Parts: sequence; structure tokens; C-alpha cells
Amino acid sequence: MMKPDTPTNDPKKIPRVRLPADARPDTLAVREGLPRTAWGENSEALFLTSSFVQPDAATAAARFANEEEAFTYSRFSNPTVMMMERRLAALEGTSGCIATSSGMAAILLLVMGLLKAGDHIVCSQSVFGSTIRLLQGEFSKFGVQSSFVSQTDVAEWQAAIRPNTRLLFAESPTNPLTEVCDIRALTAVAHAHGAWLAVDNCFCSPALQRPVDYGADFIIHSGTKYLDGQGRVIAGAICGAAELVEQKFVPVMRSCGMSLSPFNAWVVLKGMETLSIRMREQSARALQLAAWLEAQPAVARVYYPGLASHPQHALAMAQQGGMGGAVLSFVVRGGAAANPVGAASDARARAFAVIDHTQVCSITANLGDTKTTITHPASTSHGRLTEDQRHAAGITQGLIRVAVGLDDVEDLKADLQRGLATL
Ligand SMILES: *Cc1c(COP(=O)(O)O)cnc(C)c1O
Repeated sequence: MMKPDTPTNDPKKIPRVRLPADARPDTLAVREGLPRTAWGENSEALFLTSSFVQPDAATAAARFANEEEAFTYSRFSNPTVMMMERRLAALEGTSGCIATSSGMAAILLLVMGLLKAGDHIVCSQSVFGSTIRLLQGEFSKFGVQSSFVSQTDVAEWQAAIRPNTRLLFAESPTNPLTEVCDIRALTAVAHAHGAWLAVDNCFCSPALQRPVDYGADFIIHSGTKYLDGQGRVIAGAICGAAELVEQKFVPVMRSCGMSLSPFNAWVVLKGMETLSIRMREQSARALQLAAWLEAQPAVARVYYPGLASHPQHALAMAQQGGMGGAVLSFVVRGGAAANPVGAASDARARAFAVIDHTQVCSITANLGDTKTTITHPASTSHGRLTEDQRHAAGITQGLIRVAVGLDDVEDLKADLQRGLATL
């Protein structure tokens, strides 16, 4: 558990909230941040200001030279953004955190901060699609090469390591098939070669999984998902050791400006107050829905880490605090088409029928919302892949992803049953 520093009277440091050194995550989730202003506000203040007035020229010089910690300009830091960073760091158990304008900006900052031309990344082939495009499409232009390996086969990660490998990048569980990787095993592979391990912790959030507990060096977040939790803003962050955040990421942020807006930071900050109860409740509902789906004759297969049928069920339960998370996928049973092309288009039609018969679920590719969302990965998030690439990734035309929110689970069953009954 992260222990907040004792409050300091050092005028050259930004002070800490006065909290017991052993305050637990639920308390930190509602209280970690910055001390109240002189007005004594109980809810965190929203500092919508681009710059900060300095008391005199000499102090301004000291602050711009980083000799003194203070706010100068909101591209560098902002009190509302810092409250979000401190709160997220407290939940992830890291000493540092830097907020970014989106989850993708966090991955951009991670690679820009840690790597240079000639370096190499080993990444799971099952990570978020935009992550693959960023590494493969954008960073290869600047001489940073990436190899993509199995999410679950540690030997493949090991075999992909080169002398210039500096970073291993994983995400667990993955979207949409909920494959789980062994974070502790990947840490061992990374550290044996002097490389860092970064874990995208979007799907579990620190409420269910803390990658640093298994040795990960950096945690990536899309605050857009469960941290906000109500589908309102785009936000992101990197958590890690404060010295590394300071050395590797702060200078890049200052010159590149992928800064989080104070308003979005404030929304995420308030979202984190209910993160733990939302994650637990949404996971419990997802488990109920997954178990029900598994018993439906029109469903061929359900992917959900909380089910005993999941290939990494035991690992997931150990790594994710005994919970499966709130995202599940299922495959509708195929039709009677004789050839593969006919079967694929038939499977797509059947999946579309289930999606289009819903009245409660939102048809959208986003996730992490209190409103349950439903999507057809093969034609949306994975629509830019060829059918062969999709096949290799296990994203078939009959696959449907549901990100379970706080809707009544009986309404969700009825919502899916409407379409399943037509198959
Ligand atoms: C959504 C998502 C991202 C990207 O986050 P944005 O905030 O949309 O930029 C990265 N990783 C995972 C796992 C995601 O689900």
C-alpha cells in the first residue's frame, strides 16, 4: 500500500493531504489529492486556469527552473490534475503518476519517454487495436521496432527478446476475448533482460488488479473507461515510480503537451470515489450474465475470466482479487450454411440479430460505463483487420462483446434473450 508522505511545511514542495500513513484504498479513493484551499471546500476544486500568478520574478525563476515545486502553467501541471494523479497513484500503489489527455496519449508518452530509435518492444498481440497501430504503424517510422507475441505463452515472450529490447507491453484481460497474462512471469522475463514491463490495467482497474504487486514497472490507464466509469470524458495516465515519472515523462509532457484538461481530470477524480464499488458490482453482474449465457442453447461459447470454463480462470482469480471484471464475450451458435463464406455471413447476421433486438443495451464500442454496452468486434473495433487476421485473433463473425454496467441483470438477460430466441 502506498503511504502518503507526511504533510510537509517545506515551502518548496506542494503539500500533501493530512491522512493516516496506513489509510486504506477505499479511504484514499475519496480523500487523496491536495489539501483544501483556504476556503475549506469539501469537494475538490476545479482549477480552470491556464497559468498561475507568481509572487515575484525570483520565485518565478526558481519555479521554472524546477528548484521549487509549484504550479506555473497547466501544460506542465495543474492542481486538479495533480489531485487525480495522486489519487490514482495511491490506488495503484505507485509513488508517481502522470495524467494524459487520453489512454493512447499515455502509451505515446510511455514509449517517447523510455525508448529511442534502435530500441525494441515486445508486445502481446491481443492488446487494444490502437496500441498495435501506434507501435507498428507510428513508432516503426521513428526506428522503434515491435514484435507481437502470444498473450498467454510466456516462452514466446522470452523468445522474442533481443539485445535491444527495452520494454515489454501487456494488457490483461484483453478485449474482447478476455485472455489473461501472467504479470509476475512477464516481470521476470523483462527484468532478466534489463527491460521494463508496462501493463495496461484498463479492464480491471486498481480496484481488482494492481500490477505493481506482481512487479510491473509501469501501469497504463485509459481514464475514459472504469476510472471515470460513466462514459463522460477521454483521459489517461501512466503510474510508476516517482523518480522515473519525473525523469522520463515530465520533460516529454512539457515539450509535447499531451496534458489532461483540468475539467476531465476533475470528472475522473470524482469517478474514482466510486470505482471500487462499481467494479465489484459490475463484475458480480457480469458473472451472473456470463453463467446465464453459458446455459443458453443459442450460445456456442462464453469468454469470461470469472467462469470455471475460462482457460486461465485460476490465474485470473488469483491476479484479479477473485473477480472476473465486467467485460464478457460470447459466440452465437452457427447456422446451417454449407461453405465457410456462407457460414461467416450467416454468423454475422445472427450476431447482428441479437444486437439489434436489444432495447436496454447501448450499441457502442465503448466500455467501462454504468450503462451496459454491446458491440460486434469483427465489424467495429477489429473491422480494419483482414478476415484471416481476425480468424488468427479468434474474432469470429458470431462474436458479441458485452461490457456490463449497472443495469438490472434480469433486464440484461431479457434483452439478450429477445435476439437469441429468434435464432
Ligand atoms: C480504450 C482503451 C485504450 C485507449 O484509451 P483512450 O482513452 O480511448 O485513448 C487503451 N487500452 C485499452 C485496453 C482500452 O480499452
